[in-house]
Amino acid sequence: MHEKISIYGISYNNVTLDEAAALAEKMLEEESNHMAVTPNAEIAYMAAHDVELGRIINSADLVVADGIGVVYASRIYGTPVKQKVPGVELGERILSLAAEKGKMVFFLGAKPGVAELAASKISERYPGIVFAGIRDGYFKNDEDVIDEINKSGADILFVCLGAPKQELWMAKNRDKLNVRLMLGLGGSLDSYAGTVKRAPDIFIKLGLEWFYRLIKEPKRAGRMLALPKYMFAVIFDAMRKR
Ligand code: UDP
Repeated sequence: MHEKISIYGISYNNVTLDEAAALAEKMLEEESNHMAVTPNAEIAYMAAHDVELGRIINSADLVVADGIGVVYASRIYGTPVKQKVPGVELGERILSLAAEKGKMVFFLGAKPGVAELAASKISERYPGIVFAGIRDGYFKNDEDVIDEINKSGADILFVCLGAPKQELWMAKNRDKLNVRLMLGLGGSLDSYAGTVKRAPDIFIKLGLEWFYRLIKEPKRAGRMLALPKYMFAVIFDAMRKR
């Protein structure tokens, strides 16, 4: 098992994308069900003010640092994580694994039609992948959805309801779900479907993906204030602990 690093109340697996994918692969071979989450600065800041959300995130079997904010925070505390592991990339690695190993996938989340489009784009990229089921993320009755997932025989469940809804949903229903691995992956289905584009590589390399998103979706400005708030909180906390 890889070491965990605690950053502002959340314990992250200190893993590269490759190592995270290898851990996920191991989880798929185990009988029990597993939960993976990919907190970024926004969720980490939320969790610092919401004990229950913090507890849920820390109870996950795999917690990766999604986003440059958490990576910088880990450096500020003097315990740097190896790498940023974006949920959307981890999700894609798992889809590739699923195609290779014959594991069935269920896509839950996003607006009607988006998950279907995502599945068809992913099927082109990973021929042979089997989707056990697909359902949009705007449902009323949890029990119907759980039933559908369990009847589908899915091994892997993508829960893309946005944070923190997806984390709360997984924690609440985890014991009823017969999947091996469930992952909370926010807007990943939009990204696979192509309805929301990821930033060009140069933005990603420079750690400015957040800035690209801000320009593309100015509506998110309010939510994104969590990033500077998180950074300031981390700096004060790290100074206090020194
Ligand atoms: N969503 C959903 N059900 C809801 C609320 C949101 O399926 O009740 C979906 C939404 O359509 C979008 C995703 O959740 O596909 C959230 O995307 P966002 O980029 O906001 O995710 P985050 O930034 O939280 O990763």
